[in-house]
Amino acid sequence: MTRVIAIANQKGGVGKTTTCVNLAASLAATRRRLLLVDLDPQGNATMGSGIDKTALARTVCDVLLEDEPVAEVIQPAAAGGYAVLPANQDLTAAEVNLLRRPGCGVNLRNALQSVVEDYDYVLIDCPPAINMLTVNALTAADQVLIPMQCEYYAMEGLSALMDTIRQIRDSANPKLAIHGILRTMFDPRNNLANEVSSQLMSYFGDRVYRTVIPRNVRLAEAPSFGRPVLFHDKRSRGALAYLALAGEINRRDAGLQAQRSAGG
Ligand code: ATP
Ligand code: MG
Repeated sequence: MTRVIAIANQKGGVGKTTTCVNLAASLAATRRRLLLVDLDPQGNATMGSGIDKTALARTVCDVLLEDEPVAEVIQPAAAGGYAVLPANQDLTAAEVNLLRRPGCGVNLRNALQSVVEDYDYVLIDCPPAINMLTVNALTAADQVLIPMQCEYYAMEGLSALMDTIRQIRDSANPKLAIHGILRTMFDPRNNLANEVSSQLMSYFGDRVYRTVIPRNVRLAEAPSFGRPVLFHDKRSRGALAYLALAGEINRRDAGLQAQRSAGG
């Protein structure tokens, strides 16, 4: 069964794209079939996957506006063994155009329908805003993965995102669930980070992944080479952390699958 996971947080620079690219490569390394959907006009996940966003004939924008079959636009990442539905700044226009259309939140879900079963996971990289693109991602998704930095305003931003998730659940996508909350760029020597982390654990319990992503320079460097950290420095703490996250997600999803089968 395919899992469609939106990687979302309206706060900028919290590690959404880094998580999307590196989790895609790490899950692919565990023999899962992966599609990464770049839904951010910044095209960072596209570039980070070694695809030149300035040289694209077709992008996710063409797919959303129903001009192009999705299979024609998907291409392989340069390294990492996963597929990419790429994006660039054209997507800004799609956001405006989508608003003018009826049922404008379901375009991505409809567009993905023809390919979704070819993959075990579809990861969607969201823009740093709660806009029509993010609504499309949350409507297409089964679950949301929320990367967050453990700092002062983080919890506040989280409650706005939770409200949006609730609204989407009450309207277009009743099955939408939180897959997990991921602590990113974590520095255990920072007291505030530890404090916010324990608040997070007491509020969200086991929805917070056990895996913590440390601040690691290799993770920041890898995109400039157009590849996931696993193909930049596979022994780095960043690479090991994302492999651990892939392991945790595989175990968690296998557990859920078993529960479902046992329940009939
Ligand atoms: P945006 O909201 O703009 O889309 P984002 O949430 O996708 O941002 P990223 O682009 O993944 O965030 O990360 C922001 C910056 O922090 C990038 O320069 C990235 O390389 C760096 N970064 C992300 N995670 C880490 C980490 N664990 N250690 C060091 N640097 C990191
Ligand atoms: Mg990003």
